[in-house]
Amino acid sequence: CGIVGYVGNSSRAAGAGHTALDVVLEGLRRLEYRGYDSAGVAVLADGTIASRKKSGKLSNLLAELEASPLPESLTGIGHTRWATHGGPTDRNAHPHLADGGRLAMIHNGIIENFAELKQELLAKGVAFESETDTEVAAALLGDIFRNQLNGDSGKLQKAMQLACQRLEGAFTLLAVHADQPGVVVAARRNSPLVVGLGDGENFLGSDVSGFIDYTRRAVELGQDQIVTITADTVEITDFFGNPAAGKEYHVDWDP
Ligand code: GLU
Repeated sequence: CGIVGYVGNSSRAAGAGHTALDVVLEGLRRLEYRGYDSAGVAVLADGTIASRKKSGKLSNLLAELEASPLPESLTGIGHTRWATHGGPTDRNAHPHLADGGRLAMIHNGIIENFAELKQELLAKGVAFESETDTEVAAALLGDIFRNQLNGDSGKLQKAMQLACQRLEGAFTLLAVHADQPGVVVAARRNSPLVVGLGDGENFLGSDVSGFIDYTRRAVELGQDQIVTITADTVEITDFFGNPAAGKEYHVDWDP
């Protein structure tokens, strides 16, 4: 299972000739060695989120993308799934959407307290489309984003902090929201997450294979950290918003 995230700026993409989808699919291909049963991507374009997901090999997802192309974008996330909660179906594949389709989340790991959180959200009238633990985390983040923040700037980042304070288990989470184009927020606990530092673009991966074709400058996140990337910035905090730092290093092996 693997995770990739990307944010670029328009001049960089024009110069480098790659879109978010190019980067994310290349990263997923590099991460295939970790094993998976489904794959999916989401991009943020024109103020909305568009996603495609398929059970089976990446080639299934590529066929789906060919039949039903995504809009060009500079913000994207991609996932390969190793099913733990809910069978390996299209519907259970990630990304999972929340907040009326304006938020997309991908996840590697297991949310151990998903059942009680699901009950709480069901009682609030939230509807679910999959059997996954991940969709519960997405719905929790969506509910916090929509109902529990009062116009905070850096909303998704703040919402991720509050969500992570409630999640138990092992997770690498990446989320994008249509209200915040050009931003990917990620969190980790008991599961790996590495940032790739680019020039006018930044990357996220389960490991450096997720972005090795684009940069060799990596920052490994510590336990219980959240990172917010834009094309030009990388900000790391703990789950309570306190500034934190990862471990920067240079990747000197070839894929
Ligand atoms: N527990 C999640 C699921 O079953 C994520 C599995 C994974 O790590 O890919 O959907």
